[in-house]
Amino acid sequence: MSYDLIVVGSGLFGLTIAERCASELDLKVLIIDRRSHIGGNAYSEAEPETGIEVHRYGAHLFHTSNEKVWEYVNRFTAFTPYVHRVYTTHKGEVYPMPINLGTINQFFRAAYTPGEARELIKEQAAELAGQDPQNLNDKGIQLIGRPLYEAFIRDYTAKQWQTDAKDLPASIISRLPVRYTYDNRYFNDTYEGLPVDGYTAWLEKMADHPNITVQLETDFFDDSQEFSKSKVVGSTPVVYTGPVDRYFDYAEGELAWRTLDFEEEVLPIEDFQGTPVMNYPDADKDYTRIHEFKHFHPERADSYPKDKTVIMREYSRFAESGDEPYYPVNTPQDRERLLAYRELAKAEQDVHFGGRLGTYQYLDMHMAIASALGMYENTLVPHFRGESA
Ligand code: FAD
Ligand code: UDP
Repeated sequence: MSYDLIVVGSGLFGLTIAERCASELDLKVLIIDRRSHIGGNAYSEAEPETGIEVHRYGAHLFHTSNEKVWEYVNRFTAFTPYVHRVYTTHKGEVYPMPINLGTINQFFRAAYTPGEARELIKEQAAELAGQDPQNLNDKGIQLIGRPLYEAFIRDYTAKQWQTDAKDLPASIISRLPVRYTYDNRYFNDTYEGLPVDGYTAWLEKMADHPNITVQLETDFFDDSQEFSKSKVVGSTPVVYTGPVDRYFDYAEGELAWRTLDFEEEVLPIEDFQGTPVMNYPDADKDYTRIHEFKHFHPERADSYPKDKTVIMREYSRFAESGDEPYYPVNTPQDRERLLAYRELAKAEQDVHFGGRLGTYQYLDMHMAIASALGMYENTLVPHFRGESA
């Protein structure tokens, strides 16, 4: 069997590329993935004892303000009206996250108005006034002042990254909004929700096309299989969404990743924490947060068990070889190596690097889809239409 395009990786980036090329360009596409399931990190499955949908690679909340992406994803699934809210337990007390007027007033035992709270935080952040903070530590203090930073951010970040916050980019903390209202929505986006029939149904629908073949448990670097790197590069166009350093056999050194360990437990109780996600920002707990999956789908209350719940504690650490890479650490050394890999990637004949592993970038799902739609329109359409002209 021959294919017009090989897509390495069945995550949202690879699926979007495959779906567009199969549907719009009528290409025969082969997707290979080394895992035993489709969908990359967005994959979910029913926990066998309870039937509760568990996100295997950490909780995934869909949100976007990108109209094009929203229209695109709605072709494959409807979304529930779920709105993400997170709480955090600091020194035995529960606060709303991200930091908002409710968090500020509870923390300072006060009843500040929005204006008063702004003034207070400005005073507390005065040590860094006028500077353009480049790292997470300085950016955090500038955003919320030192007391709140030390309570809710410093130790959580240390647990999550095991890297001095002064060596982490400011962009990590910029993802979190700070609000001087009581609005405690986690995301600011226009659209938000969870796939009605679960993530896997959505992801499978994207691959459900007569022009698409999916081959699981197939590693691109395994030469014993038919579609390995050494056999296809140069003869068939490839979209590669695996780790960029692995592709070049780590020639420029390994890029650092953080991985997560998940400890799942089925508990014989109806409700463990009353909310989907509870963060633990203090150093006395090893885990960063606990997920309780039934709360992501209140609309499934009738079908989920009343006497059981599934929780998952999340631990974070540096990835070693063999671990799943989750978040790019992105130290200055990593960024230097990445630039070298980008040069190598440019020179690679008819191989297109994309997705969070292929570009060593943190991408939310909507960003991975937007980026894939961009590659499709700007690179693949001209490439294939030009070739067939
Ligand atoms: P992936 O989903 O990682 O897919 C890459 C695929 O390539 C994998 O299936 C992998 O097995 C395969 N692959 C790698 N190497 C090879 C090889 N050699 N041969 C064959 N196949 C290979 N986004 C949100 O929008 N909201 C969230 O709440 C959210 N939460 C997240 C929580 C965690 C813990 C993590 C890690 C990510 C989260 N994301 C979230 C981001 C989301 O997972 C990504 O946007 C999405 O995974 C990007 O898709 P991708 O296709 O680029 O990569
Ligand atoms: N963060 C924090 N305390 C929290 C939540 C987040 O310090 O309670 C910081 C932390 O550095 C984290 C970043 O904000 O890495 C971004 O948080 P987000 O929830 O967006 O991402 P993730 O937890 O997936 O890294």
